[in-house]
Amino acid sequence: MVMAEALLYDKLDNRRVRCNVCLWRCRVNPGKAGVCGVRRNENGSLRLLNYARVSSLAADPIEKKPLFHFFPGSSVLSFGTIGCNFHCIHCQNWQISCVETPAEMGRQLQNISPQQAIELTKRYHCQGISWTYNEPAIWLEYTIDSARLAKQEGLYTVYVTNGYITPEGLDAIELAAAAGLECFSIGRLVRAHVGFVYCEFIRRTPPGRNPRASSSRAASSARAYRPRARPGPRRGGGRGRAGDLGHRAFC
Ligand code: SF4
Repeated sequence: MVMAEALLYDKLDNRRVRCNVCLWRCRVNPGKAGVCGVRRNENGSLRLLNYARVSSLAADPIEKKPLFHFFPGSSVLSFGTIGCNFHCIHCQNWQISCVETPAEMGRQLQNISPQQAIELTKRYHCQGISWTYNEPAIWLEYTIDSARLAKQEGLYTVYVTNGYITPEGLDAIELAAAAGLECFSIGRLVRAHVGFVYCEFIRRTPPGRNPRASSSRAASSARAYRPRARPGPRRGGGRGRAGDLGHRAFC
């Protein structure tokens, strides 16, 4: 298995690394993986286990993403991988989000290069490509490579994300936006920054957990938040709670 080197990480002492893609900012020991399970420290170098490893592929109406004001009536080819940086108890895609190594999925994973992804998008008469089903930032490098090619072919691109991304991660995505990334669809998480890309905010409401209108109003009022400074360490270390800015994960 070829493992691509990750973008956005720092080398620390004793061959440890710190991933800077999402706000967990995992500090990863050699031989271990971050919270998402798919970015692993291989002898002091952070590697992706899931570059171009596709678990899910479907041609969908754009409204199923769900986006209602972005190319309405169009079709989009959706790609998912394995792993996730959130472990929500109500996850409806747990079969892929809770898988942490390609070996666990065995032959159910397909290798689809960015070039092949674009060819499939055109073959299925889709007007755009989306990364969805699990958090797309965990295979950031693949989505950026694909977005650049998509732009060259005149396809739109959609990132269905929980928004739990670092400023550096967002900058990397926005750089790709100049080349091709056009839309964020943000669900679950309320704090996110969106630059010049189009954004629709979506909030899931599991029955009995967050059904009150007041919590929806609070979530929507915070949707354009961007931390001004890099989040600092959480006192006492540990993994903290998802959605709580300013903590790190130790793996
Ligand atoms: S959970 Fe986030 S910070 Fe940790 S390794 Fe995965 S992408 Fe990087």
